Amino acid sequence: MNDLLRISDLVVEYPVGGGRRVHAVSGVTLTVRDGETLGLVGESGSGKSSLARALLQLPPPQGGSVLFDGNELTQLRGKALRAVRPRLQMIFQDPIASLNPRRKVAEIIAEPLIVSGVADAAERTRRVRSVMEAVGLDPDLVWNRRPHEFSGGQCQRIAIARALVLEPSLIVCDEPVSALDVSIRAQILNLLEDMKARFGLTLLFIAHDLAVVKSVSDRVAVMYLGKLCEVASSEDLFASPAHPYTAALMAAIPEPDPDLPLGDTKLKPGDPPSPLDPPSGCRFRTRCPLAEPRCATEVPPLRAIAPGREVACHFPLVA
Ligand code: ADP
Ligand code: MG
Repeated sequence: MNDLLRISDLVVEYPVGGGRRVHAVSGVTLTVRDGETLGLVGESGSGKSSLARALLQLPPPQGGSVLFDGNELTQLRGKALRAVRPRLQMIFQDPIASLNPRRKVAEIIAEPLIVSGVADAAERTRRVRSVMEAVGLDPDLVWNRRPHEFSGGQCQRIAIARALVLEPSLIVCDEPVSALDVSIRAQILNLLEDMKARFGLTLLFIAHDLAVVKSVSDRVAVMYLGKLCEVASSEDLFASPAHPYTAALMAAIPEPDPDLPLGDTKLKPGDPPSPLDPPSGCRFRTRCPLAEPRCATEVPPLRAIAPGREVACHFPLVA
């Protein structure tokens, strides 16, 4: 498989006054292969949304490279960026807030077509109808209604239709089911899988919940405090986590597999450190049950430990 997206050394920082900065994303290197679903998991505040926005150049990152299908997005401006943008879409966590409440559903879904210059009204109507049907919305019922008349799950269908209408290659799904009732999460996850197969999409699927990521991802990247801990196939990661943080996330799943070799992987008590002043060396060390003095002085680089497996740890659980 070819790489559709290659992110290198991505840096996102937020100045917060007094010369201080939030180190939200600190040198992340990651590829997304054409046609796969890459899960990106990490607890709240680990920098997942910052990474997602930066790769779409909303706004551009402070450092690093974002190579999308041969285009270096960080170098593109204005018209050139607008020409690539339709191929990269995003779905957000809060479907209701992500839809303009004053617009009718048909207008919301048609808007990307108008922005990207599909001038023919009949063509727009045809494409909006077709994409509504694809996501399971009846065009005749929903056309003139407004977002507040729908449930969260239905609103996420509208948001997915809007993301699909320009026939993108990559959709960044930023916690698309986190705000939904548990009872409808599976429907939306299934819909995303169906759309992926039908339209040949590639997905970057973000979640704070490892269980959600497991059900949809071909490969998984684990993020902690602005850095990647581990990247592996779903199969390898869930069979034997290599990073102590991944193991801790797994141990926190309500019903972990009793056969998992998790050992003593409980997080040390206490809050996660602040991204204003991340720990020296390995950022996870202050909560890591296996930390040694070396972890405070040497940043562990993300390195290959097996084909298709990378880990950023001096003492990985899988050697
Ligand atoms: P996640 O999506 O994993 O929850 P975010 O990317 O939203 O993480 O946030 C990463 C860190 O950056 C957090 O500490 C968050 O508070 C901070 N942050 C996010 N956006 C801003 C902003 N606009 N200004 C200042 N800090 C921000
Ligand atoms: Mg987020």
